[in-house]
Amino acid sequence: MQQKPRVRFAPSPTGPLHIGGVRTALYNYLFARQKGGSFILRIEDTDSARFVPGAEEYIQETFDWLGLSFDESPRNGGNYGPYKQSQRKEIYKEQVHRLLEKGAAYIAFDTPAELEAKRAQKANFQYDASTRMQMRNSLTLPKEETGSLIQSKTQYVVRIKIEPGRDIVVNDLIRGKVVINSSVLDDKVIYKSADELPTYHLANVVDDHLMKITHVIRGEEWLPSAPLHVWLYRSLGWEDSMPGFAHLPLLLKPEGNGKLSKRDGDRLGFPVFPLEWVDPKSGERSQGFRESGYLPEALINFLAFLGWNPGTEQEIFSLEELTAAFSFERCSKSGARFDLEKAKWYNHQYILKMPDIQLAEMFRKELLQKGINVPLGTVTSIVGLVKERIYFLHELWEQTSYFFEAPVSYEEKTVRKRWKEETPAQMKALASLLEGMDDFSAATQESIVMDWIQRNGYHTGNVMNAFRLAVVGAGKGPHMFQITELIGKEETIRRLHRAVANIQ
Ligand code: GLU
Repeated sequence: MQQKPRVRFAPSPTGPLHIGGVRTALYNYLFARQKGGSFILRIEDTDSARFVPGAEEYIQETFDWLGLSFDESPRNGGNYGPYKQSQRKEIYKEQVHRLLEKGAAYIAFDTPAELEAKRAQKANFQYDASTRMQMRNSLTLPKEETGSLIQSKTQYVVRIKIEPGRDIVVNDLIRGKVVINSSVLDDKVIYKSADELPTYHLANVVDDHLMKITHVIRGEEWLPSAPLHVWLYRSLGWEDSMPGFAHLPLLLKPEGNGKLSKRDGDRLGFPVFPLEWVDPKSGERSQGFRESGYLPEALINFLAFLGWNPGTEQEIFSLEELTAAFSFERCSKSGARFDLEKAKWYNHQYILKMPDIQLAEMFRKELLQKGINVPLGTVTSIVGLVKERIYFLHELWEQTSYFFEAPVSYEEKTVRKRWKEETPAQMKALASLLEGMDDFSAATQESIVMDWIQRNGYHTGNVMNAFRLAVVGAGKGPHMFQITELIGKEETIRRLHRAVANIQ
């Protein structure tokens, strides 16, 4: 039997999670669930300088909202913890020692000023096989000097020693075999004595190995790091348990070229973060999909299609359906354009899919807050009539307020177009016609009113539009008689009289 996959989502808590990160997590989730494997959250917080308070909580809250649950995480624990890199210092130190002992890494004492001077002196300076022997490190200094510098607490870094001229193969499940020559790589810093912490690259590889990660699924921006990671696996003697890689396509701006950024969101007025985020330093507020009225199911469906497609016409997929259908073969290599209209379309589709009663229960709470207490059955009928027209739940009030409150003003352009000289008399007559009706159902109203219009030789459009203006205050809304049935006879008549009195 094949080994059950173990995948991880490994964000760095350096700010709000970008929507692309949510897409990455989703693909990890789908793959894990499809194969009956494990989906792990690992917090990569070794870069203390970039740590932002609240970012980790934000990540957890995002996945709670989306309903994507982790099998192992800082919160849930698991057999391979701790799941926060800042709590794994000793583990990394041990591996740094092993690398040093094997001669696969070395200690470097070059100060920032010395490195700066070198860069100024040599264009495109890179710390690598061609330059390392000119630098101050354990390869060039006598052994005793290295020892005494460490003893005297001189700060140092550990660098990985990349041997030039070797082919490094990254087997990518989406991109196929990517081969790179080690000569282009530099001797990256993998550990800093200053904070006794590894850098991202080492911590990432060590943890993937120790947490028995089988597939590294992450954004394309990490593809350039992959050869170094493969090199680290080899240097640590772990090449036999190297995970498979899958680098997901970049999310592109809605228009033009380049990566989707927060600035695009600000400029075009849409969220690029799952939840609202308030920057703890500047107090700056960034929109979130949740606060903008997106349903979690809609956002998931939308994100699933940013870089993957099922190869069929079907666009609406529940999480279960996505889990069944997902595959790397159907992931694209080229960037996925972020299309906000599509996101809205998905939200609309999920609102339509939601049972009216469920919509009504949510909306009724909002109504009660406004001091409007209407039976759930009526609210259910009302939302059923207007849900075709909304993209977000918060648009419900705007689309339905006239069901609950008589209009206080009348849309000017409709008045100009529809309120004619003969209209007041017609509306008065219509009011008395309705007055005489016992059955106020939409169907009965319609047949009686239409008959009356015909008998009098009125223009149907003019009468009905004026009627709508009187009841709704504007030229919008669903079928007229369904509105009046829900509003009721008395209120309808009252509104007709009010309109006659108030519209000039
Ligand atoms: N900590 C990296 C990030 O913030 C992880 C990249 C990876 O998945 O290897 O995305």
